[in-house]
Amino acid sequence: MKYLVLGNGPAGVVAAETLRRTDPQGEIVMVGSEGVPPYSRMAIPYFLENNIGEPGMYLRKSADHFSSLGITERAGKAVKLDTDARTVHYADGSSETYDRLLIATGSRPVNPPIPGLDHPLVQNCWTMADARAITALIKPGARVLQLGAGFIGCIIMEALAARGVDLTIVEMGDRMVPRMMTAKAGGMIKKWVEKKGVRVRTSAGVKSIDAVTPENKGVFGKLMDGILGRDSKPAVDAPLAVTLSTGEVLPCDVVIVAAGVVPNLDFLAGTPIEQGRGIRVDDGMRTNVEHVYAAGDVAEGRDFFTGEPLVSAIQPNAADQSRVAAVNMAGGDAQLPGVLPINVLATLGLISTSFGQWWGMEGGDNVEHVDEENSHYISLQFEGDVLVGATSVGMTQHVGVLRGLIQSRTKLGHWKDVLMKSPTRFMEAYLGVTQNASAQLVN
Ligand SMILES: Cc1cc2nc3c(=O)[nH]c(=O)nc-3n(C[C@H](O)[C@H](O)[C@H](O)COP(=O)(O)OP(=O)(O)OC[C@H]3O[C@@H](n4cnc5c(N)ncnc54)[C@H](O)[C@@H]3O)c2cc1C
Repeated sequence: MKYLVLGNGPAGVVAAETLRRTDPQGEIVMVGSEGVPPYSRMAIPYFLENNIGEPGMYLRKSADHFSSLGITERAGKAVKLDTDARTVHYADGSSETYDRLLIATGSRPVNPPIPGLDHPLVQNCWTMADARAITALIKPGARVLQLGAGFIGCIIMEALAARGVDLTIVEMGDRMVPRMMTAKAGGMIKKWVEKKGVRVRTSAGVKSIDAVTPENKGVFGKLMDGILGRDSKPAVDAPLAVTLSTGEVLPCDVVIVAAGVVPNLDFLAGTPIEQGRGIRVDDGMRTNVEHVYAAGDVAEGRDFFTGEPLVSAIQPNAADQSRVAAVNMAGGDAQLPGVLPINVLATLGLISTSFGQWWGMEGGDNVEHVDEENSHYISLQFEGDVLVGATSVGMTQHVGVLRGLIQSRTKLGHWKDVLMKSPTRFMEAYLGVTQNASAQLVN
């Protein structure tokens, strides 16, 4: 049996190792396209903050880890898949057959069509190569404009701030992390980062990025003068002038683009593999084509509650899905009961979370507790007496309980009424319902 694992990020690595445990004899080939040892993108912020070097980003520490498990590592970029001939074609003209294929090719940044985005001082923050480029470009005090304040944008922001840059965030949405947090929570995060000295422009886009030249320096210099505040470097020194949809023109040394990601699917063109936003998979990570599986950022599973297709681009999901895929590739029967949206974020020290259907359900009940002064917030969403979603800001204690209640679809009974009056009492509610359930078991 030959297993081919396309991609050597967290999904690929966990799958290859699980395959080896499940099938000690099979041939396993794991393919990476970035020319570096398997690493975790999650570690990039720590690298940017200078807390770790490159080896600190590697997923496995010893150089012979995979060979000692009998896993063959191969460098290659898949450009075509022939599912009839069970063959993957690579960019260098070579090809490889498989008996079972796992597609774990992850995702890549999307860059909006903005004039000037191809300037060398404009950078994504997605790969190890990007991280190297950013550390070379950004010096303390540099005027950095970050485009996008989503999940990844907020994580990068923390690392950039730690490098001592003069930071401006521009977000199209009306709040920070608009696809992860309620309006109130996103607004509180914005206020928090502004208090920490980061400029935030919401409901704004970048219209153009212009290199400042001797010819346009006079015009841009006047437009930008004083716009970043008195403590900033003189605008006229800036190599870039960034024009926002609001009309503001900001002087910049570097632009970081974090405007979202798309799954790496190009090489599937012409195959019968069903795709939505990602590769459609069932609860066993099988695609609609026999012997082809998908896991991680590239896969589209189903939402735990709604059953709607969902790409959950977070690392724990990549690991869970690839474990299930590997067991099934080796002949087992493992299932994931849908994907529960889980978001945990630290933004300049402020912890925020959202779980499940945090935006609520039609006809459901909800309650919100807001303490602006202490940056504390909680919102709970119910369907009947079952908690289906929650958002929190500034709460570090016991928030995992919210996830537990949502995932177990626990019937809260009278505790729902307690929570509707006092939503912060969720720990008591959890203990109340779980102790009641164990008492009933004993009796
Ligand atoms: C800066 C940053 C911070 C993050 N922080 C967090 C966090 O705090 N928590 C969290 O849960 N998630 C975080 N993430 C997201 C997390 O990294 C991803 O969810 C995770 O990497 C997904 O794993 P994956 O294996 O599916 O994909 P990837 O890690 O993207 O790996 C895909 C692999 O496939 C290879 N590949 C791509 N195309 C091809 C091809 N055509 N042929 C062969 N190989 C190919 C790539 O080279 C890559 O090695 C962060 C991401 C970034 C960029």
